[in-house]
Amino acid sequence: MKNSIKLFRVFGISVEMHISFLILPILFWLSMGVKGVVLILGVFVCVTLHELCHALQAKKFGVRADTIILLPIGGVASMGSIPDKPYQEFRIAIAGPLFNIILAAILYYPAYRFLGPDIFFSMNLTTWPHVIAYLYWLNILLAVFNLLPAFPMDGGRILRALLARVMTLQKATRIAVGFGYLFIFLFVAWGIMTGNIWLLIIAFFVYISATQEASHVEITETLKRLKVKDILPNGYLSVGPDTKLSKVLEMIFHSHQEDFPVLDSGALAGIVTRANIISAIHQFGLDKTVRDIMIKDFPSAGLLDSLTKIHKLMEESGLRAIPIMDAGKLAGLITMEDLGKIYALMSAREGTK
Ligand SMILES: [Zn+2]
Repeated sequence: MKNSIKLFRVFGISVEMHISFLILPILFWLSMGVKGVVLILGVFVCVTLHELCHALQAKKFGVRADTIILLPIGGVASMGSIPDKPYQEFRIAIAGPLFNIILAAILYYPAYRFLGPDIFFSMNLTTWPHVIAYLYWLNILLAVFNLLPAFPMDGGRILRALLARVMTLQKATRIAVGFGYLFIFLFVAWGIMTGNIWLLIIAFFVYISATQEASHVEITETLKRLKVKDILPNGYLSVGPDTKLSKVLEMIFHSHQEDFPVLDSGALAGIVTRANIISAIHQFGLDKTVRDIMIKDFPSAGLLDSLTKIHKLMEESGLRAIPIMDAGKLAGLITMEDLGKIYALMSAREGTK
């Protein structure tokens, strides 16, 4: 993320701090002195571990999760697409709050014995033991707050995952987002009544991400229903194994096609994509032939496959063009641009709703 400082890396996950996070220690130092700074550092540790639990659980299900960004309003683990199975989203979402709750349960008795009931249950920052007690309760508050069913907070994700067991993801998301809006209203009302600016900032953040994610789900669910045959372009150019790269380059310039199937006496033998043509020309010059550089290991799909599946195949193989087969014969190519066009159309339609 822009304007963030990389702190450390653990389990392949990079933990970063957005520079706006730095206002927190300053604010707390101004209002509570050194104790305030220590308190905020403690909260920072609890939030980081909470987000790490989300990210590790996500990784376990094969969901990309490689950065955690700490913002003044909390942490965000940036993740790839939401998992297919509702129970996976459920487990990813609950992992964070569960960590805070388990930590609190383990520390309850030792903290109670060490601090004594007077300090443990008092809510002020007069002495250092008071700071420890305060931190203990803040950790619990963190879990409870995140469990509010305000999508896309953890509780909202848990709610959506539970709903998605009995209805479509689209419908479950709509309901969860509805709850999200209700909580935004409550946060704003409460924030104005108590003069708590954090609640207003959190409400704004929840609003932005709920809206974004809702429209993302609408689009991907629509893509799931569209099939390859609905968008497959008519006709395509192909190359042979002995075609010179100079000729392929000419074809790219003279047509709108940038990726080509390689046909060897009528059968699909490989594909060449824009990226691999350009890097080959860069490396070897124009004299090589398609045979030297073509990709022989590639996935293919059928006319009745969904566009979501094509997108997945592209992500997994790292290829930007997928050959489409019909009864053992090549029917055409679907490229990243084709998907991009559909995506743009859908987003435009979503925006006008
Ligand atoms: Zn969380």
